[in-house]
Amino acid sequence: MYTQRDHQSLKTRNSFGIEATARHYVEFETAADLQAFFAARPDPQEPYYVLSGGNNVLFTEDYPGTILHPVSRGITLLDRTDDRVVVRVAGGEEWDDFVHWAVVNGYGGVENLSLIPGYVGAAPVQNIGAYGAEAAQTIRDVEVYLPQRNEVQRLDRSACRFAYRDSLFKGELKGKAIILSVTFELSLHPTFNLGYGDLKARVEASGEVTLARVREAVMAIRREKLPDPAILGNAGSFFKNPVVPLSVAETLRQTYPDLPIYSVDATHVKLAAGWLIDRCGWKGRRQGAVGVHDRQALVLVNYGGATGRQVMELARAIQQDVRQRFGVEIDTEVNVL
Ligand SMILES: Cc1cc2nc3c(=O)[nH]c(=O)nc-3n(C[C@H](O)[C@H](O)[C@H](O)COP(=O)(O)OP(=O)(O)OC[C@H]3O[C@@H](n4cnc5c(N)ncnc54)[C@H](O)[C@@H]3O)c2cc1C
Repeated sequence: MYTQRDHQSLKTRNSFGIEATARHYVEFETAADLQAFFAARPDPQEPYYVLSGGNNVLFTEDYPGTILHPVSRGITLLDRTDDRVVVRVAGGEEWDDFVHWAVVNGYGGVENLSLIPGYVGAAPVQNIGAYGAEAAQTIRDVEVYLPQRNEVQRLDRSACRFAYRDSLFKGELKGKAIILSVTFELSLHPTFNLGYGDLKARVEASGEVTLARVREAVMAIRREKLPDPAILGNAGSFFKNPVVPLSVAETLRQTYPDLPIYSVDATHVKLAAGWLIDRCGWKGRRQGAVGVHDRQALVLVNYGGATGRQVMELARAIQQDVRQRFGVEIDTEVNVL
C-alpha cells in the first residue's frame, strides 16, 4: 500500500538543499501501489513527478502536484552462466549499494560508476556515466509502469534508446513512465575500462588490477574532485558536454589550440563544458548564495539558503557567456522544475 503526506518539505530530499514544498508526497513500492494511487486520485489532471534521491533536480518553485517516491528494495539473481550474471534490482535501491554489491561478488561492469549518488531507478533516465563507462552498457531491460495505460512493460536496451546522458525516459516517455526495476547483465570475466584520465595510474599504483581497486580509485578521485552535497548543496554536473559538428571544433581550435575535444562519431565531437565555463572566468566565482565550484566548473553550488531561481539566474549568465565567446550552446543536465 502507498503512503501519502500533504505539504511535504523537499529541502532534505534534493541534493541542492533548495527549500520547496510538495502539495502531496507519496511513497510507493510496487506497481500495485501505483495503480491504487492513480485510481484513487481525485483530480486526474493534477501533475505528478517521480523523485528518487533528488540528486539531479532543481526546484525553482513549490511543486503543485504529487511527488512519487520509490521505497522498493532488493537485488535478485535471475541467471548465471560461466561468463555472466543477470540481476534485477529494485528502483528504490541506492545505486552505489548495488555497485558495492556487484564488486564484492566479483561481477564487473558498473565499477567505474562507483559513488554516483542516486537510486537505481533513476540510472536509466539520463544513462548515468563516469570515467568512460555508462549504465547503458550493462542494462538489459527496464521495467516500467505507464500510468496512462495502467500497464507494466519491460523495455529492452534498444527500446530505451540510450545515448550520452539521454534515453527514451527523457524524450518520448518523459513524465509518462515510472521505473520499477532495472535488469543488468554483469560479467564474471571483467575487462577493465581504465582509459579515462588518471584512473589507470591510480589503480596500478595500488597493485594488481581488481574490481575492488578500480572502485576504490574511482571513489578516491571523485572525493577529491566533487563537492559532497551533504556539506555543499549541488547536483553534480549542472551542464552537459556539448556535442558539435567537427567543423565547429576545428574552427574553434584555430583560436584555442588547447580546446579539449572527444570523438563522438565521424562528423561530431564532444567539447568539455567545464573547460568552456572555466575559460569564461566562472570557475570559483560566487554570486550571493550561489556559485561555481572552485575545483569543477561544471558544478553549481548552494552556499546556503539559495533559491532555485538564483541557481537558474547564474546558469543563464554562464550559458550566455559561453554562447557569446564560443558560439556554443551548453544545455542543462539537471532537471529543472
Ligand atoms: C555530487 C554529485 C555527483 C554526480 N555525479 C554524476 C556522474 O558522475 N554521472 C552522472 O551521470 N550523474 C551524476 N550525478 C547526477 C545524479 O547522481 C544522477 O542523475 C542520478 O541518477 C540521480 O539519481 P536520483 O535518484 O537522485 O534521481 P532524481 O534526482 O530523484 O531524479 C532524476 C530524474 O530521473 C527521474 N526519475 C528518478 N527516478 C525515477 C523512476 N523510478 N522512474 C522514472 N523517472 C525517475 C526524475 O523524475 C528526474 O527527472 C551527480 C550528482 C551529484 C549530486
